Amino acid sequence: MNTINLIKNGLTQLFFPHTCYGCGSDLLSEESLLCLRCLNDLPETNFAKHLNNPVEKIFWGRIPVAAAMTGFYFSKHAIIQSLIHQLKYKGKKEVGIFFGNRLAFQLKDSNRFNGIDALIPLPLFPDKQKKRGYNQASVIANGISEITGVPVWDNIVTRRVYTETQTHKGRTDRWQNVSESFKLLNADALKNKHVMLVDDVITTGATTEACGSVLLSAGMVQLSIAALAYATD
Ligand SMILES: [Zn+2]
Repeated sequence: MNTINLIKNGLTQLFFPHTCYGCGSDLLSEESLLCLRCLNDLPETNFAKHLNNPVEKIFWGRIPVAAAMTGFYFSKHAIIQSLIHQLKYKGKKEVGIFFGNRLAFQLKDSNRFNGIDALIPLPLFPDKQKKRGYNQASVIANGISEITGVPVWDNIVTRRVYTETQTHKGRTDRWQNVSESFKLLNADALKNKHVMLVDDVITTGATTEACGSVLLSAGMVQLSIAALAYATD
């Protein structure tokens, strides 16, 4: 960095201070949300490159998935949890864009996700989205799109509000309830397309499966899945 840039950055830091979203330490450059240390601490999965990775195995025997990945492992009390919290509850959309970009680099680094025609964010319940102001899965998808150029389609599927509480239901009823909570709005757009369903965190995969099966019900459609993080508990 030359002297002029050093002074410029110093002044920027003085007037527009910005700190690492992970640890709160001062950042010299505006280009990243995280300091190098936090960046290096992010638990990458490397799933994108690997056939039969743990996220793909989740969907075995449930829905046909061409390829699936998450970029990172979710762990509680770690930077990743705090970042996802900021994305979901603190209005920090830039965190979603940041992670979307990171996912895109991982996808591009693998040859297993070629030929994706569109990114489909897993929809939120309308009232939740209204309250939050955005769907975090859409933000992540936009971050992927920035790097890959693959378009985001957010008018394909929507989510309906539950009519009953889920807590007293058995597994089958619960599945029925989850699967019925997604509604296909535009089946024709999916014909002969390979789409990627995008979500924030995959745990049991039940919600992803439900939404994915609704997309697959359009027929003649290939489904891949990408999410920010994989939580094992
Ligand atoms: Zn940091």
